[in-house]
Amino acid sequence: MDIKENYTAVKNQLPSEVQLVAVSKTHPVEAIQKVYDLGQKVFGENKVQELMEKYPLLPNNIQWHLIGHLQSNKVKYIAPFIDTIQSVDSEKLLTEISKEAGKNNRTIKVLLQVKIAAEESKFGLEIPEAKTLFQEYIDRKFTNIEITGLMGMATFTDDEEQVKKEFLILKGLFDELNQLKSLQTLSMGMSDDFPLAIECGANSVRVGSAIFGRRDYSK
Ligand SMILES: *Cc1c(COP(=O)(O)O)cnc(C)c1O
Repeated sequence: MDIKENYTAVKNQLPSEVQLVAVSKTHPVEAIQKVYDLGQKVFGENKVQELMEKYPLLPNNIQWHLIGHLQSNKVKYIAPFIDTIQSVDSEKLLTEISKEAGKNNRTIKVLLQVKIAAEESKFGLEIPEAKTLFQEYIDRKFTNIEITGLMGMATFTDDEEQVKKEFLILKGLFDELNQLKSLQTLSMGMSDDFPLAIECGANSVRVGSAIFGRRDYSK
């Protein structure tokens, strides 16, 4: 499998208005550079330390998205350059991002990560919590951040109906919050389910293995 072929195949399945976040976790900078050279500018990583190692070795016009769980005490490391934090799952984290973005005189885009999977997942806001946090954002006007949308991960299952149901729940919440204050990004769908996610209203997908190949966690 060839990265260029993979990348082209994924791109060909995406309507032009759907953003692709190329998920490069566990893959070396050489592979990322290859995809960058094909025209991809938006990449996602899920660990702060790994991102900090790769970031200085790659072109500085890459838009980095953090897609994994983020501890508040690590926000300061990525605040100078991160484009979007897709995994905001608490008010404490949102407050910290606001503070660190302010120190760096910049605005960081964030997505609220919402729990939609039936399986017990550790991270993400319950739907009522997401609504409350979004309302606080509207009322309190956190500085130096912009909530641009929602992110969710469906249950890891072959049951398409189940996955579809979960995606539609997030799409429903997106439409509801979008009435209160305008949102741009609905991030859902990964290598195995992004076409379905797009059918259900996703306009941003996070695709890793379909581009870079399978991940090897032993290295
Ligand atoms: C790893 C990861 C992805 C990409 O997964 P693939 O199945 O390799 O496409 C997407 N979203 C999140 C949050 C991830 O951690």
